[in-house]
Amino acid sequence: MIYTYDVVVIGGGIAGLITALKASEKCSVSVVSKIHVTRSHSVAAQGGIAASLGNEEEDRWEWHMFDTVKGGDYLSDQNAAEILAKEAPGCVSMLEHLGVPFSRNSNGKIQQRRFGGHTQNFGKVPVKRACYAADRTGRTIMDTLYDECLMRKIPLHNEVFINNLLFSENQCCGVVGYDIRDCTPIVFHAKTVVLATGGAGRIFKTTSNGYSSTGDGFGLTLNSGLVLQDMEFIQFHPTGIFGLGILVSEAARAEGGILRNNKNERFMMKYAPSLKELAPRDIIARAILTEINEGRGINGEKYVFLDLRSIGKETLLEKIPEVISFIQTYLGISANEAPVPVAPTCHYFMGGIPTNTKGQVLVDKNHTIARGLYAVGECACVSVHGANRLGCNSLIDLVVFGLRTGKSASRYSIKHNRVSLPVETEKISENKIAFLLEKKGNSSVYNIRENLQNLMTEKCNVFRDGQNLSLALDKICELKKKYSDLVLNDNGTHFNYELQEAFELGNMLKTAESILYSAFKRKESRGAHFRTDFPEREDTKWLKHTLVASNLQGLKVTYFPVKISRFQPLKRKY
Ligand SMILES: Cc1cc2nc3c(=O)[nH]c(=O)nc-3n(C[C@H](O)[C@H](O)[C@H](O)COP(=O)(O)OP(=O)(O)OC[C@H]3O[C@@H](n4cnc5c(N)ncnc54)[C@H](O)[C@@H]3O)c2cc1C
Repeated sequence: MIYTYDVVVIGGGIAGLITALKASEKCSVSVVSKIHVTRSHSVAAQGGIAASLGNEEEDRWEWHMFDTVKGGDYLSDQNAAEILAKEAPGCVSMLEHLGVPFSRNSNGKIQQRRFGGHTQNFGKVPVKRACYAADRTGRTIMDTLYDECLMRKIPLHNEVFINNLLFSENQCCGVVGYDIRDCTPIVFHAKTVVLATGGAGRIFKTTSNGYSSTGDGFGLTLNSGLVLQDMEFIQFHPTGIFGLGILVSEAARAEGGILRNNKNERFMMKYAPSLKELAPRDIIARAILTEINEGRGINGEKYVFLDLRSIGKETLLEKIPEVISFIQTYLGISANEAPVPVAPTCHYFMGGIPTNTKGQVLVDKNHTIARGLYAVGECACVSVHGANRLGCNSLIDLVVFGLRTGKSASRYSIKHNRVSLPVETEKISENKIAFLLEKKGNSSVYNIRENLQNLMTEKCNVFRDGQNLSLALDKICELKKKYSDLVLNDNGTHFNYELQEAFELGNMLKTAESILYSAFKRKESRGAHFRTDFPEREDTKWLKHTLVASNLQGLKVTYFPVKISRFQPLKRKY
């Protein structure tokens, strides 16, 4: 089966849907998603979307830009951070006009709350900048965008797994994959392809991410001989439900939640005396683990308490009803009566497929463009979040850069002729499927994946060091060998999830390897990347972006400078 469109968007989260809506104004566009689009991880976003509307307190885009750059430990490209902060209020207003049911304040304006690292007057005091719909912000945005896509009759190809990018005449001309229902190969022939495939939290044992966050976009990019940027920077959200990783949104701390150790101390006073529980996530995640490592975890276990009791039942149920219900369902705890056990959980990828501010994919440190290929959302690295993303800055990144990407991808499609597909493209997917279904081997998907998740959790977590990263790289080679010795128990062609998981596992291994290598090479500590053997930030040597490539010869890194305009790098204090 071959479908032909001007623009094909892979991924139906908020990034993909916004891009498709914008592109549909000028050309034909479709969205492809391995799960039903409304199940994309974007629906899980709880806390809010950042924009300096100033509905509650004075706010300015310059302050938002400063916080983003400082929060990112000065690795953010400041041209991108400026665009994000400047265009954010207009984008939230656009969402409001599309019908997103934001929570309202007593003046009828969109209500805003505090969030980690967002401040007034260049770091002076916390500011209410996060716009929200209770703690269902992602859900409400997704539902609104989905309705809009249906109204504009944008074709949504649900349950189609993409496993190859197609190139011809030196440009990207489509993708190939298969229908998960029956393994039929499907080709999308396009003038431009947009990757909006989300993150890869599933490579860790404990994560806030949904089952579909397996880094397929990273795998597709590396397998096409292209590079990934700043992969060593992975955010661990400080407050996952202990043992499960399910998120307790930062909104809980914004509403007054306090972190306590086994001595009942409010330990954030020590680590971030000014912002305390509303310091950036990298700082709080390290603080929690330091408390635990120094023996101040609760009952000697690897968690601390998040105390929400002082907020009061009524406010909890009004402001964070979902979070309260998760805590009740998964822990059997009533959050207004007992403190909640929490520990850091893998949450977000600051790095990804390098792009410029129009969403065009970059192939090298000279910013050469991959013709016809775009990336947006969590899988992309326009380099706005630097070494550590601030809460609520992802959703706004999706919308700001989704609109820009949709616009530039449709323009490109209008200006350029369609190039022909490589020969026998359907066979690419067909052969890959047949190979896996018929293969005889000794290793199972489940076993390799579990080993990978344990490995990443043990060796590449909040705290890292050269020796463990190097050991992990050796171990990944062993896991890759096992992967080539894979055998599937299910050889059927109808909803064969084991087959899908096998493809995903290939992408997870590639992603993990690129992270480990980038982390091993960066011999400093910055933002979310903390090396115990190099605990200081070293701007003279390391104020630069990593590009990592993976080919038959092995892994290779190159570097290129950070774009600095308004704010010179300073030591972060909160
Ligand atoms: C629990 C949680 C809470 C969060 N809360 C907030 C918040 O309050 N504020 C904030 O700013 N950020 C928040 N974030 C981060 C933010 O939600 C995500 O970074 C963002 O939603 C990612 O959106 P996306 O569109 O890039 O990808 P996703 O929403 O992850 O969508 C990825 C899409 O790609 C498709 N796909 C992937 N691989 C393939 C393939 N091989 N073939 C076909 N389709 C494929 C999937 O089917 C899916 O449709 C939160 C994240 C989590 C996990």
